[in-house]
Amino acid sequence: MPVPDTELLYATDAYVRTFDAHVEEVTADGGVILDRTALYPTGGGQPHDLGTLTWPGGSASVIDVRKDGARVVHRIDAAPPPVGSAVHGEIDWDRRYALMRYHTALHSMSGVIFQLHGATVTGGQMYPDRARMDFLLPDLSQDRLQQIEARTNALLAEAHPVSIQFYSRAAALEIPDLIRTRVNLIPEHVYEIRVVNIEGIDQQADGGTHVANTREVGQVHIIGSENKGKGNKRLEIVLK
Ligand SMILES: [Zn+2]
Repeated sequence: MPVPDTELLYATDAYVRTFDAHVEEVTADGGVILDRTALYPTGGGQPHDLGTLTWPGGSASVIDVRKDGARVVHRIDAAPPPVGSAVHGEIDWDRRYALMRYHTALHSMSGVIFQLHGATVTGGQMYPDRARMDFLLPDLSQDRLQQIEARTNALLAEAHPVSIQFYSRAAALEIPDLIRTRVNLIPEHVYEIRVVNIEGIDQQADGGTHVANTREVGQVHIIGSENKGKGNKRLEIVLK
């Protein structure tokens, strides 16, 4: 019997903080699979959410969330609820919202680095209290760092909307911004591509959660930079 995909509530609305679902399956090692979830599983440089699951007769903290194919597995700190149980989920919102702000900050900064220097991003990692980004730019002076920070902050303050759209693979391959951010590297079997558009700043294929408007990010401060070899640079940022 084919197993149904988990409905990813965060993929269409990052502001869902609580949700109701049913237990589809409990894995051999105690992982809980629901028919739908708002809890983000680790991926794309964004750490998994924390939160709680409550069901008739029990509750537990969610300590890990990961993708297993098209399903999301929740690891909890108690005996799992029986299959078929109705569960109520709640996200640790402070942590998630911080990660959303950092995620939108990194995408905005990658748009700026491309606009100013034509440099492409090679990786990124968010935490609830900081983030870092790697990109290909052989020459990164103190002046350039200041310019990147100032330009990013000017754009963030302009209150650009952030929208989520879904494209067919063929349509996504027609969007120049997406080619720049390597949409062509997404596996062939992915036929629907989710695109995060920070309007006028950056557009990327991305599975993560973002704020709805750049004004929610606040201001970026570059607190460090280092050489990672072969022209790769790493920036570390905090938000205020
Ligand atoms: Zn991203």
